[in-house]
Amino acid sequence: MNVVQHSEEKLRSALVSKLPAVAKLYSDYTEGERRLLEEGLHPGKRGSLFQPITLHSDSDWIVAHPEEPQDFEAFYRDPYRKTPDTGHSTIYIQTIGSFGDVGLQTDRYVEWLRDYCQAFFCGLSVELLPAVSVSETGCSFRVNSSSHNLQILTGDLLRFLGKRKPKDAFCIVGITMIDLYPKDSWNFVFGQASLSDGMGVFSFARYDDHFYSRNYAGRVKKKLQLRQGDYSVFQGYYTPPITSTLLLRSCKTITHETGHMFGIKHCQWMNCVMQGSNHLEESDRRPLDLCPICLHKLQVAGGFKIADRYKALLRWMEDDESQLSEAEGAAAHHSAVHFHKPTEAFNESRLWLRSCLDRLEIS
Ligand SMILES: [Zn+2]
Ligand SMILES: [Zn+2]
Repeated sequence: MNVVQHSEEKLRSALVSKLPAVAKLYSDYTEGERRLLEEGLHPGKRGSLFQPITLHSDSDWIVAHPEEPQDFEAFYRDPYRKTPDTGHSTIYIQTIGSFGDVGLQTDRYVEWLRDYCQAFFCGLSVELLPAVSVSETGCSFRVNSSSHNLQILTGDLLRFLGKRKPKDAFCIVGITMIDLYPKDSWNFVFGQASLSDGMGVFSFARYDDHFYSRNYAGRVKKKLQLRQGDYSVFQGYYTPPITSTLLLRSCKTITHETGHMFGIKHCQWMNCVMQGSNHLEESDRRPLDLCPICLHKLQVAGGFKIADRYKALLRWMEDDESQLSEAEGAAAHHSAVHFHKPTEAFNESRLWLRSCLDRLEIS
């Protein structure tokens, strides 16, 4: 295992920049905010909130896909970077196809994702568009010849999202529980985006713990004959169970991919949700939140107070039926199905957020 280490000087220049006009943005932070951000100058130091990147194999992203690292200055001066403005400040989430058999729980799941994005992209509004079925997108589909599950074509979905994107959108993010493929010759893809058009589509199908098992319930019968345009095969098609791990993986993916819409490239500075990932194990290794350099990028685009964002994220993790109003709480308890937000997998992040808030508030 190799540790990717950068000198303090290099990290400081990646965070602050040597150009006075860019460094000025950093000087606008409060003393507490700078104290927190500067913990990122010593990743891995005892008690630090931030850790260096570790490389576990040649299939890890940084080894397999060498990219130019993007420091804050390169991000800020990128002429193609999109930034929300008053007319385009909403992130829209479009669900495609079923998210489960139990209507109520799946509705809640998508709302949890929305609420999480709302906290993560503090200062912007995040809205759910009315759900659409696979047939409404008119996309092509197939059965994967080796994994035998249904897959839908990303290019068609992006075209659909392009037509669906509201005028006030900063971006539109399509999510689905069905596996994706970008072209016939490819086995699969986790997602595809068009950053210049502010849209992307991502699948959570492979975040199911059983996806790669022989008994995966999303396999279809070998003899099944598909006819393009006949979407009946998607009716009642398997969707992954909504577990805490699935929720954690989905939150990571949707924020990572939406982060790209802001022009934030893959992070090579320290452990960060914006690190590239080549496979599920590497994606699971990534933390849920941003390193200081990527946080500075998002802050400049969103204009929030760092403590407000951490508090909103913490509230999301701690918020459950106990936080509902009395009437909502009573309704939830009396209904046959009582859904609690499965945040067990977020425990480490919850403790981390509390430590971040402590750093910000000590004067
Ligand atoms: Zn990425
Ligand atoms: Zn980062």
